[in-house]
Amino acid sequence: ALVALRIRPMSAAELAEGARPIAHRLDEQVVVLRDPLADPDDVLRASRSQQKSYSFDVAFDATATQETVYRATTQSLVTVVISGSNATVFAYGPTGCGKTYTMLGTDGEPGLCARTLGELFQAIEDASGDVEYEVSMSYLEIYNEMIRDLLNPSLGRLQLREDAGGTVQVTGITQIPATSADEVMQLLARGNRQRTQEPTAANRTSSRSHAVLQVTVRRQQRGGGLRHGRLFMIDLAGSERAAQTRNRGQRMKEGAHINRSLLALGNCIKALSHRASSKYINYRDSKLTRLLKDSLGGNSHTVMIAHISPASTAFAESRSTLAYAHRAK
Ligand code: ADP
Ligand code: MG
Repeated sequence: ALVALRIRPMSAAELAEGARPIAHRLDEQVVVLRDPLADPDDVLRASRSQQKSYSFDVAFDATATQETVYRATTQSLVTVVISGSNATVFAYGPTGCGKTYTMLGTDGEPGLCARTLGELFQAIEDASGDVEYEVSMSYLEIYNEMIRDLLNPSLGRLQLREDAGGTVQVTGITQIPATSADEVMQLLARGNRQRTQEPTAANRTSSRSHAVLQVTVRRQQRGGGLRHGRLFMIDLAGSERAAQTRNRGQRMKEGAHINRSLLALGNCIKALSHRASSKYINYRDSKLTRLLKDSLGGNSHTVMIAHISPASTAFAESRSTLAYAHRAK
């Protein structure tokens, strides 16, 4: 797996409350986090416990453009998927640290989804006449370990099953044929309005569900084989811990489900990075890892982009995010 770390710019709210930047990109691969309680004028004497560095395959700070992040993390997956293999991109991190910005972006600064799909459809258009492609998409969320179709929420709770070929499928999910990136982005926008978003004490727009875009590329060689490449692009639920959001009851249960599935995901990615035998990988631990079972292992390509705020007020969350992502590597 490729593990990236992105530090977003300081927000206006953080600056207004007097927060200082404590997370810095040291070089292409290393991020340093300083304990905000350490004396800022005493960097040289700062002990190891006051300042810690974490290394990744690639690190980005506030100066990195969407284009830079795309090229360094996801661009190479386009050929993987159109040649019939699977690939997965995750955005990980606490609420408000830039997951949706990286995946969806803005109209002026489109994110990974639009860029990847744009190049995917372009590659299909440029492909030789010997190969025929059909692209379809589905969009679901996993909330409290339940799967909901974001393109048709009235279907209710959906189940996973493994087909005869060992591919994990979501029974009955809406699959929509797509011929352009714009079409997919419009469907994504429609699906996003159906997401389960609950206000929490920590953040009013905290996402409590994993949003999973699945793009399937059916590749038919003339007089030859049929292959399916699957691309998952996943905006994970906020990784802030249940305890930190002062939640009770239902909110606490959500937090427990989120922690469990993010932990299972980290464990799977770590195990795969160390080429553990697949029988020791516990895909069964969560709906998310079960769904991704055949898209994480084998010859699949996995990209994890972890996100942090640079602010001193986010120290505890940044530290746990850096540790999680560093451990997944
Ligand atoms: P998340 O999805 O992790 O909760 P968002 O993507 O919604 O976080 O980001 C929170 C805010 O910060 C948004 O207003 C977003 O536009 C802004 N933001 C995040 N990352 C960046 C970045 N790299 N550059 C500029 N603005 C960013
Ligand atoms: Mg978000």
